[in-house]
Amino acid sequence: MIYRDFYQHLLEHFSQPVELFTGVRKQGFTLYSEQGVLYIRNSKNNIRRLGREDVDAFIARFEETGSVLPRDYQDVTFNSSYLLAIMKYISNVNNEKMGIFRFYSQENADSEQQYHLWLKNNPEGYVLNIPKRGEGKGSASVGDLTCLHASRCDAINNQRSYSQPQPFTGGDYFKVCGNSLAALEDEALRITQLQSIRRCNRCLTQVKESQRTD
Ligand SMILES: [Zn+2]
Repeated sequence: MIYRDFYQHLLEHFSQPVELFTGVRKQGFTLYSEQGVLYIRNSKNNIRRLGREDVDAFIARFEETGSVLPRDYQDVTFNSSYLLAIMKYISNVNNEKMGIFRFYSQENADSEQQYHLWLKNNPEGYVLNIPKRGEGKGSASVGDLTCLHASRCDAINNQRSYSQPQPFTGGDYFKVCGNSLAALEDEALRITQLQSIRRCNRCLTQVKESQRTD
């Protein structure tokens, strides 16, 4: 993604107010633009201006580090939690345009049903299974637990009975799905900050590297 003149992009995108949530504390807020300026209205109805200089400083740091942790931005902006939530929202919108969908119970109460619907409608698709605590971490343990599968794989698509009501997207793991393995793998590298993503040795052994060019 190119972040050149991200502020202008946000002004246009948020000409209609959008409700968002910060990542860590799950605080709701509304982002909107008015006469060339962005504003944040928080859950207590306080309004603060989100200036171009804040956004530019944030983007410069983001491009340098790729970090999704607010503390890595605290020296450049007071609005890091909001800006990270905005980035995540924009990247989800862009992903959905490319056919990549994210199913995560804390972000969407219907994630489990929507995940099963996606599998049903995309039998030739691919699924990234990833621990919720793994976003942006890039650690070896996250690498061991993160895995790409085919839609039909029994590991991510089965009807066993589970004690947990949302076993696929409501527990420790969430899913990111798409019909292009290459695009999904790129997204997996971006969100985990890992160097490579494991492929399931039951369902993806037949997929050759050459399919990366699709
Ligand atoms: Zn598999």
